Amino acid sequence: MPSHLGNFETYLYSFLRIDVSIASMSNGLVGLEFEARIEDVIVRTYNVKSFRLARPRMLNYKPGQFGFVTVEVDGQKMRKPLTLSSSPTELDYVEFTKKLTGHPFSNGLEALKNGDTIRLEAPYGNFVLDEQLPHVVMLAGGMGITPMRSMCRYCTDRNLSTLVTLLYANSTEADIVFRRELEEMEKQNRNLKVVFTLSETGPDWTGRRGRINAAMIREEVPNFLKSVFYICGPPAMVDAMRVQLSELGISKTSIRTEDLTGY
Ligand SMILES: Cc1cc2nc3c(=O)[nH]c(=O)nc-3n(C[C@H](O)[C@H](O)[C@H](O)COP(=O)(O)OP(=O)(O)OC[C@H]3O[C@@H](n4cnc5c(N)ncnc54)[C@H](O)[C@@H]3O)c2cc1C
Repeated sequence: MPSHLGNFETYLYSFLRIDVSIASMSNGLVGLEFEARIEDVIVRTYNVKSFRLARPRMLNYKPGQFGFVTVEVDGQKMRKPLTLSSSPTELDYVEFTKKLTGHPFSNGLEALKNGDTIRLEAPYGNFVLDEQLPHVVMLAGGMGITPMRSMCRYCTDRNLSTLVTLLYANSTEADIVFRRELEEMEKQNRNLKVVFTLSETGPDWTGRRGRINAAMIREEVPNFLKSVFYICGPPAMVDAMRVQLSELGISKTSIRTEDLTGY
């Protein structure tokens, strides 16, 4: 965007280049549908990339929500839900972060470059941060970090007093997405604690080992009985976490989940 533009021009500019319409779904939810230019593609790990789009002024969303992304693959349109990994506090762009699976939708996304346009319908979903909560525990598996990154960024940018513990499980160190940023946020935000755990570790790994389980939660979260739990990951991981939380005596009303179907 030209740097000399003032607020009003910036506002007009975002309208001129982004085709905005309202998309409604059969369940009555209404999201904004827009076509926007890809401003940046960020390599997060060997198989994960973030795609940043110019954020239309009309797009308001809550940390944790998702959108539907449409890409064209061999002349066919493919549409998938992807979490908005950006936080609403990031005003200039909206971002989603995708694991590159080698499957058709993923390949269609991977082929996109800066300056290409993409169709996004957003926001959708109820897996959102409740900023009134005093104690939150986030359990993320693999790509399940995407809504948690949005929520942690939001808590940090807004200086929220919510005490957050993020337990983030991966197979190997190379799989950790947003690692440096999460470590930075932990330094900036004294209410945020980040715990990485790996199922396959090298000798130099100083973080936790193994999958998230009841014992790990008990050790890392002293006030776990007063906490509300947010779980996100592949469906099998989300189910496994429910079992662990029931062992700890956490009531279902204190658990919020998002299944990343497709993994
Ligand atoms: C609410 C929600 C939020 C989500 N957020 C994210 C997110 O932030 N990031 C993210 O990465 N994912 C997210 N997902 C999952 C995402 O929507 C996709 O389902 C997932 O990324 C798989 O995409 P793909 O590119 O592999 O899809 P596809 O290309 O459609 O492949 C999907 C599956 O189809 C099968 N398949 C397709 N083609 C082949 C082939 N040629 N050979 C063999 N098998 C094949 C495979 O089983 C494959 O896993 C989210 C899902 C939900 C429901």
